Amino acid sequence: MSKNLTKREEDYSKWYNELVVKADLAENSGVRGCMVIKPYGYAIWEKMQAQLDKMFKETGHSNAYFPLFVPKSMFEAEEKNAEGFAKECAIVTHYRLKNDETRPGKLMVDPNAKLEEELIVRPTSEAIIWSTYKGWVQSYRDLPLLINQWANVVRWEMRTRLFLRTAEFLWQEGHTAHATRQEAIEETERMMNVYADFVEGFMAIPVVKGIKTANERFAGADETYCIEALMQDGKALQAGTSHFLGQNFAKAFDVKFANQEGKQEYVWGTSWGVSTRLMGALVMTHSDDNGLVLPPNLAPIQVVIVPIHRTDEQLEAINAVVEELVSKFRKLNISVKYDNRTTQKPGFKFAEYELKGVPVRIAVGPNDLENGTFEVARRDNLSKEIVSKDEIVEYIQSLLEQIQAELFSKALSYRNSHITEVNSFEEFKEVLDNKAGFVSAHWDGTPETEEKIKELTKATIRCVPLDRKNEEGICIFSGGKSAGRVLFAKAY
Ligand code: AMP
Repeated sequence: MSKNLTKREEDYSKWYNELVVKADLAENSGVRGCMVIKPYGYAIWEKMQAQLDKMFKETGHSNAYFPLFVPKSMFEAEEKNAEGFAKECAIVTHYRLKNDETRPGKLMVDPNAKLEEELIVRPTSEAIIWSTYKGWVQSYRDLPLLINQWANVVRWEMRTRLFLRTAEFLWQEGHTAHATRQEAIEETERMMNVYADFVEGFMAIPVVKGIKTANERFAGADETYCIEALMQDGKALQAGTSHFLGQNFAKAFDVKFANQEGKQEYVWGTSWGVSTRLMGALVMTHSDDNGLVLPPNLAPIQVVIVPIHRTDEQLEAINAVVEELVSKFRKLNISVKYDNRTTQKPGFKFAEYELKGVPVRIAVGPNDLENGTFEVARRDNLSKEIVSKDEIVEYIQSLLEQIQAELFSKALSYRNSHITEVNSFEEFKEVLDNKAGFVSAHWDGTPETEEKIKELTKATIRCVPLDRKNEEGICIFSGGKSAGRVLFAKAY
């Protein structure tokens, strides 16, 4: 089954598209740019959601839900935000269809059912949420507001790709309101750190924390923090963003509060989001030419057990042993599947679970029963071990932790070996063309230089890393003064 997968080296992009479909994660739909997330893919997304949701709640946030539609006048209120999203909006203009007299059996938009005001399908919810916050905030006692929403949004993207960039996508968006600038900045940084902890600890993907340049900043924000990851083909992927909104939305929607001295002040805001794009990051970071490789912390099935038998008696004997094992795993919250279908051969099952990235496979045959052993195979490095019955539970428990840690360190060493410092534009182009990855270079800080470099090389500034060294230098492109290195890369 997995033999049909295109090799990464041949065509990374094709490999990705094929894998997403063959591993049953998602498929293209009859709707332009919109995907169907299939049960196996959705199960991984649910695990991501559950963990993130827990982390949001631990940091004091509550979930709420706001409308899908934003009246155009409301959308326009924060001008920069509106302008930034204007080119990718879906707009509702009518609310009724009627029979088309000229085409029997067909429908047409009823011209008498035109909306008085157009509705924008939310590309992001700042407008609707800040227009609501106006009614929720009167005094400093009402602050902070710490709200998250799990929702779908629509951005009419021209070039789409399963998970990485779709016209409709699922995400969470946090929207918070604070009494002080300092508190809002702390919140923005806190949520960037929550994202980084999640992506590194659960997805096993190392990230660079940084700040976006003005060009790449969220429309309507004063500052955008981000986490950037590196895929196996050397391209970067923005994995999450956290925006410091200053008082921009408070001013646009007149959200004021009486401070402790009774004086009216505008509220300070943040917003932050991660989307189903993370599914794409997960696939692109760990998977190989045989199929998916999933980190145990997010795998819907962590351990699959496959019986190897010829006769029904053998299967019955294996069933008895495995049932006991399964209940031990379940008690430890290890998600386990026993696949004793008789309609498929073990070899078929092995290939299927390999393609689907199940971290650990246990096989048991009559010999194992006799010897009191199991055969344990790891998906990530394809190694096999014989483990005795007495040790199997603890062995698997620590193996899952070990796989999680090793996936991270493997991705980290790849990432670290793909951050290249360069000191001239020639070197810069050379690295981008051959090795790819992040290129660390001096930049004069102007949007013009950034634009020019993008035009010539397709590389963008992914971020100004938060932990960059203090090192003055000379811009690789303009020769102007630079306050420090930034990370460039070609990106998804
Ligand atoms: P933003 O609101 O633009 O800061 O985006 C929030 C999150 O959604 C970021 O992590 C983006 O990488 C992600 N994102 C933006 N556009 C898309 C898209 N078309 N498909 C999937 N994810 C997206």
